[in-house]
Amino acid sequence: MSEDIAREPRRKVISSPYLHKLQRRHFLLFDILPIVGTAAAFAFLAVHPFGSTEIVLLVSLWLLTGLGVTAGYHRLFTHRTFKAAPAVVAALGVLGSMAGQGGVISWVALHRRHHECSDREGDPHSPNLSGHGLKGRVKGLAHSHFLWMRRHEYPNIVHYAPDLLKDRLIVKIARYYYHWVVLGLLIPALIGGLVAMSWTGAVSGLLWGGLARIFILEHIVWAINSFLHMFGTKPYESRENSRNGAIFALVTLGEAWHNNHHAFPESPSFGLDWYRLDPGFWLIKLLAVCGLAWDLKLPTDERRAAKRIVPA
Ligand SMILES: [Zn+2]
Ligand SMILES: [Zn+2]
Repeated sequence: MSEDIAREPRRKVISSPYLHKLQRRHFLLFDILPIVGTAAAFAFLAVHPFGSTEIVLLVSLWLLTGLGVTAGYHRLFTHRTFKAAPAVVAALGVLGSMAGQGGVISWVALHRRHHECSDREGDPHSPNLSGHGLKGRVKGLAHSHFLWMRRHEYPNIVHYAPDLLKDRLIVKIARYYYHWVVLGLLIPALIGGLVAMSWTGAVSGLLWGGLARIFILEHIVWAINSFLHMFGTKPYESRENSRNGAIFALVTLGEAWHNNHHAFPESPSFGLDWYRLDPGFWLIKLLAVCGLAWDLKLPTDERRAAKRIVPA
């Protein structure tokens, strides 16, 4: 038996009833619950008004966790587009975890598989593999945006993220994933409660700064996987159907330059030029100026020109 396992080539993806149970649980807790929480936040307006505390909590925590996902989970941990000081690694890892989109190592493995198989068999969330016609497109969008998470093949982290498994700090952050999510809910509850000096203030802080904030960021990130693999502009040659969505640049913190990103996944800048809004890259540049990030791997002009489809 053990010899059979030893002889078996390492599998790239794993499926098991236990893993699917975990996926279902994560889907209910972190994908369905934020929807319920957002509805509850609106209902709770009858009890507690949406005031400046709620706005500040919602926007600041959305921004912090959003930067944790794009600058941390995506540009640093998945694509290694720059190097960073341990304090930055820890901060981005924890903030990214608070977004409730999965532990950092699983997220990285899933996203690396997305790049390996994009829009082909094996892509965990392609909108382009669910048939033709309007029905196929709608089905594809629903699958890639949201529904794929209910049950999917789990990319083997030994194959897809061996670098992260060797990093003790990252492994530790991943191990405490659920704690970070809960911390991201407790902080706005505590601040909301202290500012209003009431329990209703705490509940309002939890709903707006916690669950509604998770809901908003999730749908922004998922829209990249779904809509930006179907609609938008394609200035660079890349083998999948990734697109840029300029009008979403700011709200996605730069992630909407998705065709640029697929064409140059090694680049910490997704906008590629200073005039394309890319807050995720602005943070990395700021960290670099402070000496906390270095080795920013920007593509050369020649490399960009070689992949350019439409003139700049
Ligand atoms: Zn990527
Ligand atoms: Zn993509």
